[in-house]
Amino acid sequence: MAKKGNIPWNKGLKNTSSKKWNDKELKILNDNYYDMGAVNLSGNLLENRSIQNIRTKAFKLGLKVSKETHCKNMSIARLKRKEKLGYVNSLEARRKISIKSSGENNGMYGKTRTKEVKEKISEKMSGENNPRWLGGIARLPYPFEFNKQLKEKIKQRDNFTCQLCGDFIPKNISSKERLVIHHIDYNKKNSSEDNLITLCNLCNVSVNTKRNEWTKQFKEKIEEIGNGNIQKME
Ligand SMILES: [Zn+2]
Repeated sequence: MAKKGNIPWNKGLKNTSSKKWNDKELKILNDNYYDMGAVNLSGNLLENRSIQNIRTKAFKLGLKVSKETHCKNMSIARLKRKEKLGYVNSLEARRKISIKSSGENNGMYGKTRTKEVKEKISEKMSGENNPRWLGGIARLPYPFEFNKQLKEKIKQRDNFTCQLCGDFIPKNISSKERLVIHHIDYNKKNSSEDNLITLCNLCNVSVNTKRNEWTKQFKEKIEEIGNGNIQKME
């Protein structure tokens, strides 16, 4: 029988420490998690714990970070992770780009686009004219089975954690940070549970390219979940 809930998907991967938590560590976690969050605790007050390890423990203990800490830490952590995966320019590069294209250095500095120009650009980039046009599937309605209840069920199955970057995102967080349910085969009509996975908003954007690779990777993850790693939902 599947053990009751909350074993993270990355159990056994090398950056998740399985070392037992001692009383001192638990106290540090308890006292500081709200203000510092996993990103700042890892390698700092909890020097031998990975971010994910801390987050998982806190989740099990029902500890939460303040919303402010969450947003601040998450964006740093996410950038670092994505930088590692090569999705985004490094923080340093981003800073340079930002300087390079701000103020007078920006081609648009001091200029405004007229309404007509804006409309023209918009027309040029919409629908079939857009290189990212997918044949209109974005406008297909979701079938009725893909409802709020099902989405909630999938999020529970995935411990309210983005299955790509590992961010735990509680329910009451702002819409920018929210979790979304991704269709693994990119077919919005296929709402069977093994085709659905929880991602954060930002990761959901990054899986729009290299679709085949993502499908393969997420299918493997779903198999793991199906192997009893996560409590079966009613
Ligand atoms: Zn994510």
